[in-house]
Amino acid sequence: MAEDADTYDYIVTGAGSAGCAVAGRLSESGRFRVLLLEAGPRDTNPWIHIPLGYTKNYTNPKVNWMFESEPEPNLNNRTLYQPRGKVLGGTSSINGTVYMRGTASDYDDWRQRGCEGWDWDSVLPFFKKAQNQERGASELHGSGGPLHVTDIPHEWPLAKACVEAAMQTGIPYNPDFNGPRQEGTGFYQFTVNNRRRWSSAQSRADNRSPSRVLSSRSSPAAATSSRKAASDGSRPGAAAPASSISQLLPVAR
Ligand SMILES: Cc1cc2nc3c(=O)[nH]c(=O)nc-3n(C[C@H](O)[C@H](O)[C@H](O)COP(=O)(O)OP(=O)(O)OC[C@H]3O[C@@H](n4cnc5c(N)ncnc54)[C@H](O)[C@@H]3O)c2cc1C
Repeated sequence: MAEDADTYDYIVTGAGSAGCAVAGRLSESGRFRVLLLEAGPRDTNPWIHIPLGYTKNYTNPKVNWMFESEPEPNLNNRTLYQPRGKVLGGTSSINGTVYMRGTASDYDDWRQRGCEGWDWDSVLPFFKKAQNQERGASELHGSGGPLHVTDIPHEWPLAKACVEAAMQTGIPYNPDFNGPRQEGTGFYQFTVNNRRRWSSAQSRADNRSPSRVLSSRSSPAAATSSRKAASDGSRPGAAAPASSISQLLPVAR
């Protein structure tokens, strides 16, 4: 382990879904000093933590890069809005919190195309290790990990009616979209804990990782220029680096 307080064994850039997980795992042994850098601010915006608040932050330049795609020739050269988290937790702080891993065959296809180590049998142990599945551990799920995965606390009558209507058309009920098959109708599980969003930043903190996190100040100037760029029709993401790594301040631990 490095001895100097300002030197690190690893620097992870981007405290999003992947960055928080990588920094958390690297630092949990206590053997390494890890610095996690984030271009966006801390996750203090209350709408981040209310799962339905993602509709608020879908177009909030303070926590969202608000990218726009290049013109798409196959869409009559239209551009498409591309939201991405610019905040501690990254896009896991502004996403829909649905816990959906994809099918085993997706991963096996990647392996077949040469992506060694990404076949289903290789990745499943890591999914299980990450998970704290509310329903308990099973062949396809893990418990005791840092990422809380929970059922919705209440099945609303309207949502139930939609599921039942789908079943009446012959679509099978699926109690677990991360179970043996993905096809069907039913209720998602969510990365939510005690009715609050459980972003990768929360998972990392829960992990008690001793890494140091530096995020940018939430700069009003940056937010303003980002909004202006959005209303100009130019690419707002290009304005965002005004809240830069040069304005880093320590957060958490
Ligand atoms: C609106 C929306 C809804 C979604 N809903 C779901 C869902 O319900 N379920 C699901 O599984 N997935 C969902 N996704 C997708 C999922 O959230 C993303 O695929 C995932 O979070 C991406 O993780 P990542 O680590 O690749 O990137 P991110 O989580 O985006 O992390 C990248 C981080 O790097 C930071 N960064 C960038 N450049 C720099 C720099 N130069 N220096 C320092 N930091 C930098 C960014 O600010 C950001 O924090 C959704 C995505 C969106 C946009």
